[in-house]
Amino acid sequence: MAEMPEVDRAAANRAAVAARRARAELKDKLRSGEITPLRALELSLDRDSAAASLRITDFLLSLPAIGAVKAPKILERLGISDRKRLGGLGRQQRVRLEEFIRERFQMGGAGPRLTVLAGPTAVGKGTVATHIRENFPGIRLSISATTRAPRPGEVDGEHYFFVDDERFDRMLARGELLEWATVHNSHRYGTPRGPVEEASERGEHVLLEIDLQGARQVRKAMPEARLVFLAPPSWDELVRRLVGRGTETEEERERRLSTAKVEMAAADEFDAVIVNDTVADAAQSIVDLMQRH
Ligand code: 5GP
Repeated sequence: MAEMPEVDRAAANRAAVAARRARAELKDKLRSGEITPLRALELSLDRDSAAASLRITDFLLSLPAIGAVKAPKILERLGISDRKRLGGLGRQQRVRLEEFIRERFQMGGAGPRLTVLAGPTAVGKGTVATHIRENFPGIRLSISATTRAPRPGEVDGEHYFFVDDERFDRMLARGELLEWATVHNSHRYGTPRGPVEEASERGEHVLLEIDLQGARQVRKAMPEARLVFLAPPSWDELVRRLVGRGTETEEERERRLSTAKVEMAAADEFDAVIVNDTVADAAQSIVDLMQRH
């Protein structure tokens, strides 16, 4: 066979580098949930796509809770060689893989994928939610409406929708809130229903970071929602975090501590308890849970 001319070889190298980069991006998107496994499979029908050239093993390894031990077993069960690329799957292999994904990740007709994150005061729900917002673009965080004033750095429409009491009343009257509560006996907070429903319909993962009263309302309104309780590593640690803030008066601190005791007892009502040891680990556990099913 004749050797490739220098120019062609350079072009081929560039194309190979670009294809590798596109595959790496696709894997990242699968990992973060930005692209669902079924969507990647669909994309792979286009022979020129990055998805088509993705090896089946790399594809499986990019999915939550599938590692180097499980991947070969899954392939064996599905009757797919580990050398296959998504674009090269036979029709029956594709059908079996699709079924496997639907079953494992409960997709297609499984209803809204809504997860509620709640927990006691000062456990760090807000920090964990912010970490998820910044690191997992595939997960949509619901933006609450609140009657409290913005803190420095908070942006209207990004952290909260800052509204006055009349506007909040109007939202309530029109049934625009999925749940709402008066938090710490002061301001009202509520989850706008529209964006949550629209995102769920699009099959996106939605996360609500709300208080316990709100979590209970969501359970009633949407029994299929998953409730995750964020717990402190220990009671002492929770107290330390409450005191550590140093923003409350002694009286307020006592009140918050007794509230936290009652709140901790609510853990039993939840589908899952995740310990907030480090922010990154807790966030990853929540995302894994959301993507598993
Ligand atoms: P912060 O004022 O510190 O941002 O939030 C105070 C509390 O309000 C947090 O515990 C948070 O979980 C809760 N919260 C925020 N948004 C909502 C919401 O839409 N509904 C409910 N029920 N609680 C919320």
